[in-house]
Amino acid sequence: MKVLVAVKRVIDYNAKPRVKPDGSGIDLSNVKMSMNPFDEIAVEEAVALKEAGIASEVVLVSIGTQACQDVLRTGLALGADRAILVQTDIQVQPLGVAKALKAICEREQPSLLILGKQAIDDDACQTGQAVAALLGWPQATFASNVELSADTVVVTREVDGGLEIRALSLPAVITTDLRLNTPRYASLPNIMKAKKKTLETLSATELSVDLAPRLKTVSVREPMARAGGVLVADVKALIDKLRLEAKVI
Ligand code: AMP
Repeated sequence: MKVLVAVKRVIDYNAKPRVKPDGSGIDLSNVKMSMNPFDEIAVEEAVALKEAGIASEVVLVSIGTQACQDVLRTGLALGADRAILVQTDIQVQPLGVAKALKAICEREQPSLLILGKQAIDDDACQTGQAVAALLGWPQATFASNVELSADTVVVTREVDGGLEIRALSLPAVITTDLRLNTPRYASLPNIMKAKKKTLETLSATELSVDLAPRLKTVSVREPMARAGGVLVADVKALIDKLRLEAKVI
């Protein structure tokens, strides 16, 4: 059983984003980039399924510039078997990524496609849902537990009211939530071995996919600076402030 995992190269979660002076986007020059944290969870889940003898091959896919090779190599060092880069200089958006992933699924015929629930740069939370719709495959988003068997996958989903359990027929799409697992670190020997694993590069033209953006960013601004907090002497002073100054009670 083949498992395909989508991994996105994003600004590292520890890096502070800087808005470009002209407000056209985030300045990514000299900023540390990493694998999207939810995609690390997706890779871990796929590798664990392989180690349990349930999956037979784990294939990674990234859509973006040549620089995305670094996150694919990281995923290979974590235990994936091979990787595919759909190389483009276009700044891809969820719909374009979903179309590219659909084309890769048609080529690779995986039983399961695992994505992160959202990318921490655009916070779109759209790609998994879109690719499932384009493929006509069942989907379970925000997974906190996955039990895979020969022809079904039972997924526990984190929803507003609690947990929801769904059984999906395969092939299916899953998006990972934070509590699904704890990703491992890559060991030095595995980082060295990953350099020899196959990393195939394809173009959007080879896949006959239109990656052109459909959304236009009008402007990007820093969030409003927050005023500092105030220490009050007691509960009465707090209530007076809320009632008389802030007028919220
Ligand atoms: P989003 O819909 O942008 O919040 O992204 C959700 C998930 O889709 C991510 O966690 C990735 O698994 C996948 N994804 C989004 N963009 C890309 C990309 N450029 N390459 C590979 N996977 C992606």
